[in-house]
Amino acid sequence: MSVVDRQEWDVVVVGAGGAGLRAAIEARERGARTAVICKSLFGKAHTVMAEGGIAAAMANVNTGDNWQVHFRDTMRGGKFLNQWRMAELHAQEAPQRVWELETWGALFDRTKDGRISQRNFGGHEYPRLAHVGDRTGLELIRTLQQKIVQLQQEDFKETGDYESRLKVFQECTVTRVLKEDGRVSGVFAYERESGRFFVLEAPAVVISTGGIGKSFKVTSNSWEYTGDGHALALLAGAPLLNMEFVQFHPTGMVWPPSVKGILVTESVRGDGGVLRNSDGKRFMFDYVPDVFKDKYAESEAEGDRWYDDPDNNRRPPELLPRDEVARAINAEVKEGRGSPHGGVFLDVSTRMPAEVIKRRLPSMYHQFKELADVDITAEAMEVGPTCHYVMGGVAVESDTAAARGVPGLFAAGEVAGGMHGSNRLGGNSLSDLLVFGRRAGWHAAEYTAGLAGARPLVDDVQVDSAAAEALRPFSAEAESEEPSGGPPENPYTLHQELQQTMNDLVGIIRREPEMKQALEKLAELRVRARRAGVEGHRQFNPGWHLALDLRNMLLVSECVARAALERTESRGGHTREDHPGMDRKWRRINLLCALADPTGGLAADPVRGQITLTSETTEPVRADLLALFDKEELVKYLAEEELYE
Ligand code: FAD
Repeated sequence: MSVVDRQEWDVVVVGAGGAGLRAAIEARERGARTAVICKSLFGKAHTVMAEGGIAAAMANVNTGDNWQVHFRDTMRGGKFLNQWRMAELHAQEAPQRVWELETWGALFDRTKDGRISQRNFGGHEYPRLAHVGDRTGLELIRTLQQKIVQLQQEDFKETGDYESRLKVFQECTVTRVLKEDGRVSGVFAYERESGRFFVLEAPAVVISTGGIGKSFKVTSNSWEYTGDGHALALLAGAPLLNMEFVQFHPTGMVWPPSVKGILVTESVRGDGGVLRNSDGKRFMFDYVPDVFKDKYAESEAEGDRWYDDPDNNRRPPELLPRDEVARAINAEVKEGRGSPHGGVFLDVSTRMPAEVIKRRLPSMYHQFKELADVDITAEAMEVGPTCHYVMGGVAVESDTAAARGVPGLFAAGEVAGGMHGSNRLGGNSLSDLLVFGRRAGWHAAEYTAGLAGARPLVDDVQVDSAAAEALRPFSAEAESEEPSGGPPENPYTLHQELQQTMNDLVGIIRREPEMKQALEKLAELRVRARRAGVEGHRQFNPGWHLALDLRNMLLVSECVARAALERTESRGGHTREDHPGMDRKWRRINLLCALADPTGGLAADPVRGQITLTSETTEPVRADLLALFDKEELVKYLAEEELYE
């Protein structure tokens, strides 16, 4: 039996982004001794990169806004596949979460009369994104961190120990959720610096590990986004919901190659930037789909007037939801009207004075100047789609964030599914993190308190097998000598092949034969990944870390590919060239991915695939929420029988 350090906590939060920190604060404030564990440095989570803002119907800039309008926009953006109760809670609670951040010290940009300023973003009917220039995520994390430190100082005064009730384990990676009799009992983790293994025992675990973008070659996501939480939940027995929905943000950098995929914030378009093709044409006017026809301007003049007079004009089509804009850019490039480096042009230089651009979009100005030697106050940017966000995720109960089927497991933030349906609106992630992070922390604390003394125990056998699994890359030579073996594999090569496969075959435009080919390639990679080998020792060994992350990326990629093959329609972030239209029958269908081997191990035969797919009917939208929409609009989305009901 391996000897690993153990500590006992009431709640363990995996991930220290916006969702994780908000969950931890809530759990601690409700009396639970809470540990936060994150694989990067504390304060370095992906949330820091969020630029444009946080969506909340505070009506500071347009008094027409309210939670009902926000709910409507979110459902439209998600093409009505959203878990509607989550969309309702999100729209109702987001303003409180923003005001709360302010009371904790966040310094938002202001309107002239001193209120929190709100900016326009795609798919939002009114200016709704509270922001701090284009560095909103940084302020959000700074504020939540400060709150954590404040709580630790309070604890110090009472107990003499800053970490008695709230402790952060940074640069530590969780590789398994542990269970006893089907219930969560803790997590198994390793310290990245020393390679030391340890266990945090806790009856409640909140997963808030963010997204999956590093499975794709061109992505706006950072190194942390290897789908760990999605895989941890799957391996613990929780299903993943609608994994086919991956958001390709329309505007990532395309040049130079070293920075391809880095995000160009939607605020550029929200603040007046326009998209043009190589003929200089504002092509988005040609791509307004029927469901949005009456809500978007028909001419450039009307679109331009909207910025100053939104009540009497319709918004420009550059502000359509992201899936529509990404597809339009893709089509323009394919038709040969792209920019020199395979994107299109995004121009603010002819739309705003240089000093306004530098003030409102400081990060974008520096990003292009430093990375591409482009001065965006004088010339257009070149942009193209980049894998940005995953709408699919852990299937959760809307009110409690409890993962389905695994008592004690909770999920919040990007790793959770349902809230955004088939496509997320910009700004709706930061608000999602706070609304559901808080709910996850609250219910995790309540769950633990409800167990009284009867906590599940950590099983030594599971700890040993988690340790053996983590050490496997060091014995790749032995693995390769098995009868079915081949030479040890380089984890970096496997990762590159995986990214290329997902990018080329399960990317922005999908076709049946290509997805089948992707599944075959994933099967091959799975076999080879068993021989992923590393040299050296456990002290800070990035090759080893990647070898472990590969398990997660392969699992998640298989979920995406299988679900995408199954859904024979195009909706939101899932575009099938062979099934181009949105099919109302599919609106009622959720696709659930579960692990084929229910014992929680990986399937014995890696070629067979590790994922089983089932479908379920979505819960009908509550009547009072449906009443917020015009009947003519509902006809475009709802299935025949739903309209009848
Ligand atoms: P994260 O902030 O990514 O945190 C994940 C945490 O989990 C990290 O601490 C990580 O270390 C940890 N972790 C991961 N795996 C493990 C493991 N195995 N063990 C331990 N810890 C682990 N959304 C908006 O609403 N508005 C915006 O303006 C906006 N701008 C964006 C700009 C960019 C460039 C990008 C990429 C995204 C943007 N988004 C925006 C999306 C938004 O930032 C993310 O969806 C959101 O920050 C995710 O937060 P999270 O708390 O779920 O995860």
